[in-house]
Amino acid sequence: MDTLLELRDVNYSYHSIQGETHALSNLNFTVEEGEFLAIVGPSGCGKSTLLSLLCGLITPTGGSIRFQGHDLTRNDTLQMGYMLQKDQLLEWRDISSNVALGLEIQHKNTPENLAYANELLNTYGLGQFTCKRPSELSGGMRQRAALIRTLVLHPRLLLLDEPFSALDYQTRLTVSDDIGRIIRQEKKTAILVTHDLSEAISLGDRILVLTKRPGTIHTILPVHFPEGLSPLEKRNDSNFKHYFNLLWKEFNQNEGSIH
Ligand code: ADP
Repeated sequence: MDTLLELRDVNYSYHSIQGETHALSNLNFTVEEGEFLAIVGPSGCGKSTLLSLLCGLITPTGGSIRFQGHDLTRNDTLQMGYMLQKDQLLEWRDISSNVALGLEIQHKNTPENLAYANELLNTYGLGQFTCKRPSELSGGMRQRAALIRTLVLHPRLLLLDEPFSALDYQTRLTVSDDIGRIIRQEKKTAILVTHDLSEAISLGDRILVLTKRPGTIHTILPVHFPEGLSPLEKRNDSNFKHYFNLLWKEFNQNEGSIH
């Protein structure tokens, strides 16, 4: 596997009239092509700051972020796709034109790209809903449409910021399973930030645990399950409990909290 993203000694401090807040300290890690990295850590440890750094909204106050072998530039951030807590679908557009929104904004709404959008909608069970408004879809279907809107732009890296936390527990299980499968099937590289340990174990290839502020890497835990298990099936596998206990211990050593 090739390295897609590399952080070298990354630091970030916020400066305000109240003073300096050291948010992230000496982060060193890589993300390989096709990998799914989950990031967990106590509230306030710098998870959102890290995502803001990765998508170029802010720049490190120390160290460097390398993408595809060179220092991260504005152009690289155009190759990133996002999934957030809210799906941000526009109610006045039907699903088909919601999915095409990014293509329109980037002037890429060519017949080929629109055909690809349709293909994704059909493959992932939304073919019958293309003329519906977002409010006519379930929460899970809306998140699927939001993911397809991102996938049509062929992102090299998906940044997922607590994308399931607005959903109720049952829906959250099925939607994370659904989204996890699609990301695997499309062979995308993804970084998921979550405070939910079970979600991290069922979706990630590796789990990066951050310490309390200033967030630094406490540990990076590789996760292995029998080949081909879906995120939901992993939750029922005997290894799941082992990883959960391991992470729980790391969290307590870290004197953190999962909320
Ligand atoms: P998380 O996403 O893990 O909850 P954040 O990245 O939001 O953490 O914040 C990390 C730390 O930086 C927190 O202590 C927070 O209070 C501080 N912080 C976040 N944004 C700002 C800001 N704009 N100015 C000053 N401090 C900030």
